[in-house]
Amino acid sequence: MTAGPPREMPVRGILLDIEGTTTPIDFVYQILFPYARTHCRDFLAAHWPSEEVQSDIARLLEEHAEDKRRGLEPPDFPTTLKETQPESVLVYILWLMDQDRKSTGLKSLQGKIWQNGYRTGTLRSQVFPDVPPALAAWHFRMMDIRIFSSGSVLAQKLLFAQTEAGDLTKFIRGYFDTTSGAKTDPQSYRRIAAAFECPVSAILFISDITAELNAALTSGMQTALCLRPGNRPQPEASKYSLIRNFAELSL
Ligand SMILES: [Mg+2]
Repeated sequence: MTAGPPREMPVRGILLDIEGTTTPIDFVYQILFPYARTHCRDFLAAHWPSEEVQSDIARLLEEHAEDKRRGLEPPDFPTTLKETQPESVLVYILWLMDQDRKSTGLKSLQGKIWQNGYRTGTLRSQVFPDVPPALAAWHFRMMDIRIFSSGSVLAQKLLFAQTEAGDLTKFIRGYFDTTSGAKTDPQSYRRIAAAFECPVSAILFISDITAELNAALTSGMQTALCLRPGNRPQPEASKYSLIRNFAELSL
């Protein structure tokens, strides 16, 4: 590992980002997102009455109202759940997908669409080759390993359960998504730290995005910037401890 701020506290908890950290960005953008886009119409038609789908749509209604208030000019959408039809949901979620919005309602629907794909074996998820042995080693050393990603908790669990290297969920104690707050908001990390059974300063957050590391640092966590093939260059990258894979971490 290259130089970074000195580690004052031995690491006891590890919080991991997914996209660009445990998993190639390409898997998300070339496989997962297109899969959701291709299957959302059929999914909405087949699962429309489901209570869980209706609750995602209720959330989308709120988010749509907020988009309008903020002047983002979203496509037309009804204002009540009763008036809402699959077609209008489709148009709005495709608009959200086009902008890669971290919308909680969209992410929740996407998770359910991927669940179908994993169930039928059409989808298999990817993690970098150093990830399974690192998770096993950290778990063996009693590290508290958790995930923080903008993908829904369901999508995160599916991703780690269905990897090409097998089921990795046995190593992971907890999952957090945007219902815990935005990934660039220090408050989200404070909330997440409270779930760990160690002080915030003993938690190491690993991500490919410096704006997220910055928020985690503000909360009192330790951080490492993960440089993986295909990741976007980051501002102020040299301020952070850099790792190219999890095997480089000396904990
Ligand atoms: Mg990431």
